[in-house]
Amino acid sequence: MVKLDGKLVASEVKSRVKAEVSELTKKYGRPPGLSVVLVGDDPASKVYVKNKEKAADFVGIKGMVHRLPETASQEEVAAIVDQLNGDDTVDAILVQLPLPKHLNEEELLDRILPSKDADGLHPVSVGAAFSNRWAPLPCTPHGVIEMLKYYDVGLEGKRAVVVGRSQIVGKPMAMLLLNENATVTICHSRTKDLKQELLRAEVIVAAAGKPELITKDMVTPGTVVVDVGIHRKGDGKLCGDVAAEVGEVASMLSPVPGGVGPMTIAMLLQNTLDLFRNSNIN
Ligand code: NAD
Repeated sequence: MVKLDGKLVASEVKSRVKAEVSELTKKYGRPPGLSVVLVGDDPASKVYVKNKEKAADFVGIKGMVHRLPETASQEEVAAIVDQLNGDDTVDAILVQLPLPKHLNEEELLDRILPSKDADGLHPVSVGAAFSNRWAPLPCTPHGVIEMLKYYDVGLEGKRAVVVGRSQIVGKPMAMLLLNENATVTICHSRTKDLKQELLRAEVIVAAAGKPELITKDMVTPGTVVVDVGIHRKGDGKLCGDVAAEVGEVASMLSPVPGGVGPMTIAMLLQNTLDLFRNSNIN
């Protein structure tokens, strides 16, 4: 079984981005700017934001974190987004999710200018990507495609099954697989017989958010399996949506941690670079 090593592929992507950032910084006289809006004290979000800051710094992107207290109002967060929209040194904006419950997430994400949409979640970006036009792509599914390409997994004509239909992972994942000419099935919480759907798959992308949902008996030998899920178990260790025993039958499997996670951050840097390039061309 081949391990789909996200750390390795992410470091290749980062090196590529770093070289281009250095060249374009000289050309345009300033580095790309990525601003992250972090509201509240969610411990996982704090770690994710720290990692994004570190990665941006590594490739020469100017990362800025705008921290607001848990009690921040909709108007206060909106004012920060508006300020960043109007700042010419900011090329990419990301509002870290989840937001505190009292805030309207959709309204805040829609407020980000599509030309600064670091996460590719704005409806304009989603629509453009669905119409096969250029758009920043949602980082996690984009990272999965990048990883599969690195390992030469030919997707054309393959039966691919995506487990999950969220706006952030499942749906865009299915679209990107379709763009690669795979034959795509989307499974979700109301799917009647998940095992039957999975057994037909040649490529599985698991993003159900359910620890170790997919077991060995649900996977045909030789299948390529990508595990997007990330969960902390009772013993403190991390696991994905795919049980470790699937490694006994899969031809390729992404580990958790060290699989899709590092790819997500690498693709955020790629999106920031692309938006920077666009803003200087337009
Ligand atoms: P979500 O909860 O928004 O969506 C989960 C989806 O799975 C839903 O569409 C639901 O219909 C489906 N689902 C739930 N139970 C199912 C079942 N038993 N059978 C089939 N489908 C089922 O979650 P999300 O935001 O898409 O994230 C999914 C997982 O990926 C989570 O574990 C999350 O932490 C992880 N994640 C990881 C990264 C990363 O960078 N590694 C990024 C984003 C999300």
